[in-house]
Amino acid sequence: MAPGVLWAGLMSPLSFRHPALWLICSTIISLAFLAGTLKQKKPGYKAGLFCCLALLLAGLSLLFRESIRFLLLPLAVAVTSFFGPEVFLPLWGALPVVEAKRIFLLHQYGDILFVLSAAGSAAVAYVSLRHFKAKTIELRQKLNTIREDPPGVSSGGLDLKEAAETELRSALNLAKHILGAGSASLFQAGADELSLRCSTARNPRVSGEGLIRLCYKKRQPVAIGNIKERDHNPGYSHEEEIRSMTASPLMDGDIVIGVLAADSPRPDAFAAMDTAALSALSLLFAGMLKRQRVHGEMDRNLRGFEVFRDESSMLLKTLDTRAIAQESVRAAMRIAPAMGAALFLIENDFFELKSLAGIREPGKKRFQSLRGSLAGNAMKHDAEPLYLSDIRDYSLPALPFDAGHIKAVLMQPLVYEDEMLGVLAMVSDRTNPLTVYQIELIRMLSNQLSVMLSRAILHERIRLMATTDGLTGLYNHRHFQERLAGEFKRLSRHPRPLSLLLVDIDFFKKVNDTYGHPAGDAVLKLVASIIKGIARDTDIPARYGGEEFAALLMDTDKAGAAQLAERLRRTIAETPFPIDGGNRKTLSVSVSIGVASFPADAKTKEALIEAADKALYRAKHEGRNRVVLS
Ligand code: GH3
Ligand code: MG
Ligand code: MG
Repeated sequence: MAPGVLWAGLMSPLSFRHPALWLICSTIISLAFLAGTLKQKKPGYKAGLFCCLALLLAGLSLLFRESIRFLLLPLAVAVTSFFGPEVFLPLWGALPVVEAKRIFLLHQYGDILFVLSAAGSAAVAYVSLRHFKAKTIELRQKLNTIREDPPGVSSGGLDLKEAAETELRSALNLAKHILGAGSASLFQAGADELSLRCSTARNPRVSGEGLIRLCYKKRQPVAIGNIKERDHNPGYSHEEEIRSMTASPLMDGDIVIGVLAADSPRPDAFAAMDTAALSALSLLFAGMLKRQRVHGEMDRNLRGFEVFRDESSMLLKTLDTRAIAQESVRAAMRIAPAMGAALFLIENDFFELKSLAGIREPGKKRFQSLRGSLAGNAMKHDAEPLYLSDIRDYSLPALPFDAGHIKAVLMQPLVYEDEMLGVLAMVSDRTNPLTVYQIELIRMLSNQLSVMLSRAILHERIRLMATTDGLTGLYNHRHFQERLAGEFKRLSRHPRPLSLLLVDIDFFKKVNDTYGHPAGDAVLKLVASIIKGIARDTDIPARYGGEEFAALLMDTDKAGAAQLAERLRRTIAETPFPIDGGNRKTLSVSVSIGVASFPADAKTKEALIEAADKALYRAKHEGRNRVVLS
């Protein structure tokens, strides 16, 4: 009303004759209007707000003439962006009217262009803003869908999900029309709460306890004729007021799987017949929800089998246990994305954590035992998986290390022909995270994994037998020669220092003769373990012959090699060698060591061995228990 009167006044000759007066009046009225409407946001407040702004601008324009008109352009853009089409359309129409008076007064054609450009820029801003807003909403919705149900095996796939949503939406629209309701909404029962699944209303929200929850808990239809009078809370809200509503539970046998609700802004909008119709519709919706769930599961299973097929063939490609472990953890996570996975393999009586995903990294990777954890318990069940959908009341931790808040576990022991190989441990921070199909797939994957692992372990054992010496565990002569040849090949491209130690036990024959062959073997083993202990990881220690050892020291010049050789000689000389028989008798053993280095002493593999051998020979001749450099 007030803006209308002012608008008429703006067009009158008064505003031309007394612009200052006009400006003061319009400012006061505009401010009063703003204070009144902005607070309550009555319908049409945006249009009113625009009138006020236009009046102010017109007044200013009359007062200051030329300069103030340049505010029109940014003003038009800003107002349009913030207040949308209700404001933009009158603005677009009003600006030329306001400016027309000036054009007739001043006869400036430039003004026409100015007004058109202002309106044009407002239009462009409006269209691009609309486009931008629509894109943002679309992207946000997509992001939410992905967040709620990440793609992978658990996902029904976006297509299937979209089809399900469309189906529910059109059925809800049908229900809305049949019941003559303002809107119809479908709520779905989750683990322990009721969430909105789909609605015909704008901006629907679930809000705490209310009638839909009552309907869900009592498993009975509810209908309220006049919500305002009875002070009821529907349990949800949307942009329109809810004055009356009716809701019916959706049943799957004895279980409530959701609630169908219809509401209206009119009081007493639903007759008894409508409530009966809603009950009938609820059967239809219950059927749809059940079918969608089964479809979703079938889709998940199909994808699960696809993952299984892909991953099984991946597993077949490698014989490396670490790669198999990593691949298996990846596959398990694809089958059950809601879980984290850890794979423990038994190696030399220890449990090695070979691969881990979705779980906090522990401080150590080697565990003496898994006892005292659910992973350890699972190993008592042979190959049977142990699935616990809710472990919140369990006192045992899921894993032998702190993995955070775990609410459910699937422990799958890995067994091949009665040999326990390890355990695949899957954990989740959600209760009940797996379907029976996912569990079955994990079990199938684990069977496959066990076969692959035992094959890899066997392969590893054969490889070890071919490259190592059975008595001492050091590399054998053949492997040592191969490695030495390989190193010399590399040296021809990237020359770096390299040293060779040849170690021979002094008077070893005497040990055999005095204490017997088994005692001699024990001495050989202990000497080998001392050499292994002193050499670095990159070095290559080997049993070169009967009681003769070799060590290839990488990136080590003669001085470094001499130091290491001396340390080795001294350690062996100072070590008491126990002699079997339980009489705690020990024996002293000494070694002679010959040292030769590349490039100082030799340029080829053969020359290096010969130089080290000669140095060893000299060590023997000079009295044994010593290191001689080439
Ligand atoms: P030297 O100080 O000159 O090296 O004297 P030595 O007695 O160590 O020298 P020799 O080469 O004559 O003796 C090596 C002995 O090592 C001969 C052999 O019976 C013994 N031998 C070789 N392989 C093994 C083995 O696997 N086990 C045991 N117990 N003895 C072995
Ligand atoms: Mg010898
Ligand atoms: Mg000897």
